[in-house]
Amino acid sequence: TMNVTITLIFFIYGLIFGSFFNVVGLRVPKGSLFSQTRSYCDTCERTLTWKELIPVFSFVIQKGKCRKCHEKISPVYPFMELATGLLAAFAYYRFGFSAPLLLALLVISLVIPITVSDIAYRLIPNKILLFFLPLFMLYHFIFPTRSLWQALLGAGIAFGLLLLILILSKGGMGAGDLKYFTLLGFVFGPKGFFLTFFLSVLFGLVGGLITMKRTKKGAKTMIPFGPYIGLAALTVLFYGDAFITWYLSLLGI
Ligand SMILES: [Zn+2]
Repeated sequence: TMNVTITLIFFIYGLIFGSFFNVVGLRVPKGSLFSQTRSYCDTCERTLTWKELIPVFSFVIQKGKCRKCHEKISPVYPFMELATGLLAAFAYYRFGFSAPLLLALLVISLVIPITVSDIAYRLIPNKILLFFLPLFMLYHFIFPTRSLWQALLGAGIAFGLLLLILILSKGGMGAGDLKYFTLLGFVFGPKGFFLTFFLSVLFGLVGGLITMKRTKKGAKTMIPFGPYIGLAALTVLFYGDAFITWYLSLLGI
């Protein structure tokens, strides 16, 4: 039917945008987003042909290796392409053509490149956050689902709480995480922020336990927190309102 077709279109566009988000996440911290128009292999620096640029499929066909230098390509990139495709399709499935769909696409476009950057460089680029801030402001202005007061309160609470954690943890949490949470506080408001924060810590603990099991002898490795913040933000994006309503009903509020 029509809906299946549109969902599929969202999936395919998601794959293509996911491929672009990989490039954004990898190049923005290096300040070279527009210096070279075509994608290239990180190891042999050869410009990729169109056959190597098909999201997900190229990776599968090449068995995860560069065709010339045979260096392994990180599975993070096809994973992010697939994730963007699935998330875009799910956003349409969940929200249809509505204002929340636009918000969902904005949040997905924020989360994916930041996740790529944080995995690759342990860095949440200011440029990506600053690019999205006016877009979220514009969204709030056009579709005032929450008052501006709620958005600013969310950002303020996020900034205050994360600043406290940043000071107390002495390097456990980065300034990038603080700015990321502050922007998400603006997007989701106070309740949504608290849920995002709670879920990110929960996901971080679970993820930390899994990676600790895999790296034997409990070797201490710096795990980027950005991916968990992103996963939490996406959960809140799709199910936050439902969860908050359910939780408040439990409390009898
Ligand atoms: Zn290569």
